[in-house]
Amino acid sequence: MEIMLENLFPILTQQIHGKKLVYLDNAATTQKPVAVIEALNNAYTSWNANVHRGVHYLSQVATRHHEEARQKVADFLGAKSSDEIIFTKGTTDSINMLAFSFGERFVHEGDEIIVSYLEHHSNIVPWQMLCERKKAILRVIPLRDDLSVDIEAFESLLSTKTRLISIAHVSNVLGIINPIRQIIQIAHRHNVPVSIDAAQSVPHIPVNVQELDCDFLSFSAHKMYGPTGIGVLYGKQELLNQMVPYQGGGEMINHVRFEQTTYNTLPYKFEAGTPDFVGSYGLAAAIDFINQTGRDKIARYEEELTTYMEQQLAAIDDVVVYAAGQPKAGAVSFNVGNIHPFDIGTLLDQQGIAVRTGHHCAEPLIDYLHIPGTVRASVAVYNNKSDIDLFISALKKSISMLS
Ligand code: PMP
Repeated sequence: MEIMLENLFPILTQQIHGKKLVYLDNAATTQKPVAVIEALNNAYTSWNANVHRGVHYLSQVATRHHEEARQKVADFLGAKSSDEIIFTKGTTDSINMLAFSFGERFVHEGDEIIVSYLEHHSNIVPWQMLCERKKAILRVIPLRDDLSVDIEAFESLLSTKTRLISIAHVSNVLGIINPIRQIIQIAHRHNVPVSIDAAQSVPHIPVNVQELDCDFLSFSAHKMYGPTGIGVLYGKQELLNQMVPYQGGGEMINHVRFEQTTYNTLPYKFEAGTPDFVGSYGLAAAIDFINQTGRDKIARYEEELTTYMEQQLAAIDDVVVYAAGQPKAGAVSFNVGNIHPFDIGTLLDQQGIAVRTGHHCAEPLIDYLHIPGTVRASVAVYNNKSDIDLFISALKKSISMLS
């Protein structure tokens, strides 16, 4: 199967250092299709005006687009209601909002929050900050030898003190897909809600919040062909309703009096200030692009590509692929002998290949592996086998230069 989309992404047609650009840094951010770029352009050239409460025409158009985008996200995620969709700045902002708003309401001294060893810093530090504020305790699910999360160890961490589990759907370093359905079922048997960091899953595989029965879920538009600066926090209505607002300001209030202020209903209670209504329109265009391409088709195609890439990598002497052989979505991490990942990344760049090197904002996982970092190559729907072949031959050349 081949999805020929390269010409829909203008940035990909350029040369880097005189070589065809092969963009394999999609886990960091994806490139944008013309439809998304045009949507942003259209917003500023045709209907830009501040949303909500405006009586004039443009404000009403802008409000309609913003609220239609919210409904589009709700449909995309399979949420019960668009009231469960909070627009944020991105995954980091979503998790910080959750840690504050959930934490203020439900977490007290001695309570526990559970994360795993393979989390992005965005799904560690906000919980550490909450634990520090509340004198609560952060528990960490260890990994098995094959780097999958240890489900038995997870179950033994659960107790009457556990208030929340927050875990990545797909690891941004290893690309492995965590068994979140099983994790959610186990957690719910103990009446513990689960937050899913879906930054690396929503772009690659179908995600349905009602099927998963997750309580919260976060993602960023920029990793799924949408604009930067906008993302989503999904939350079950009954939980969101009980939580305290994250920020104060316009939009999130019902009435403001110096004696007492009352808060707006969902989702506005969590959206203080002017929302990124141009971003939400761009996100809606990205969702249209994904839906038109086909979510199942994207998942199958990318799985083929990552499997092919992993096989090609594993066939090179001295290459260690992490979590080899496990089902992956998007990303593959590796190292070559004792060569520093940065050196590989630099030589690949000179050959037009964009990959990421380092700790990938997951230092605890990198320490756990006792390595300085990895080289991570990550695919999107516009990549193809010939990109992988160019990458592999450039990698072989880099290795022979460095050996
Ligand atoms: N979680 C995961 C798993 C990620 O991959 C990322 C981005 N690398 C984030 C959270 C943070 O996303 P953002 O920088 O868009 O807020």
